[in-house]
Amino acid sequence: MGSTATCYIQWFMYYLGVDIGGTAIKAGVVDDAGRILESGRIPTVTNDLGAFISTLSGLIRGFQKSVQIGAVGIGVPGLRSSRTHIIETSPNIPCLTKVPLEAELANQLQVPVITQNDANVAAYGEFLFGAGRGARHMVHLTVGTGLGSGFILDGKLFDGALGYAPEFGHTVIDPDGRPCACGSRGCIETIVSATGILITAREKMANAPPTSDAVFEAARRGDRAALEVFEETGRYLGIACANLINLFNPDMIAIGGGVMASGDMLLEPARREARRRAFGPSFDHCAIVQSTLWPEAGVIGAAMLARDRLN
Ligand SMILES: [Zn+2]
Repeated sequence: MGSTATCYIQWFMYYLGVDIGGTAIKAGVVDDAGRILESGRIPTVTNDLGAFISTLSGLIRGFQKSVQIGAVGIGVPGLRSSRTHIIETSPNIPCLTKVPLEAELANQLQVPVITQNDANVAAYGEFLFGAGRGARHMVHLTVGTGLGSGFILDGKLFDGALGYAPEFGHTVIDPDGRPCACGSRGCIETIVSATGILITAREKMANAPPTSDAVFEAARRGDRAALEVFEETGRYLGIACANLINLFNPDMIAIGGGVMASGDMLLEPARREARRRAFGPSFDHCAIVQSTLWPEAGVIGAAMLARDRLN
């Protein structure tokens, strides 16, 4: 038996994906196959820019110590200009107003950094490695506190002229409807979101639970009024899907986010309603499915976006 010499060559490159939320920042080292190898999280500082940047760069440095990071991708809950790369505004993180976050972090960390809207990076992750594998035209919705959206058109992430698209959650479906956080009224997000579910629950239930999770629990126990809340929310989700199907003729609408723990309780009325309203041949082609990467789609998508920009 001869001796064998083993030569390790590092040809893998790793990317760091960061998902900034209103309460926590999650990060993960991701390989080319979209696998998360190591992850971490810290609380989000919302009103002190210096502290926000120093905690975020501290988190990233921690990963840089253990593995070589090729590039960092960051999903930000707000509007990021694709021309200037500046974060213009972030409703839930007020300190992120007109901040050149990419330049600031790249300078401190000596690694390429790219930012993108959080709903867009989640869509990209789901497209590459989740429910959207094999699709060419895909819509991804994130039903959480609000209703996030991301479009993959012809295999590419679409973000409009200045990087601010899509804001499908702020499509108006009732001109005199509920007031929305965006300043308008009757946006689909005022109904199809955790916030919307709570308001609907207060309208329909004598003793409405304090959170949308508790409304879901009540529905699971068979509470009639709580079931009606999900039926109605699902119907509006279906109207949203019908509009998207008619607009884009997509291969797939994948839906993720915390509220989707309710699964078929929302998806079944949504599919029924979309079938009633969308053009038949377009509806028949479009799968309406639950995301498979939630809650990691953002971290994976952000890392892969950084990879793609680097290569
Ligand atoms: Zn709105």
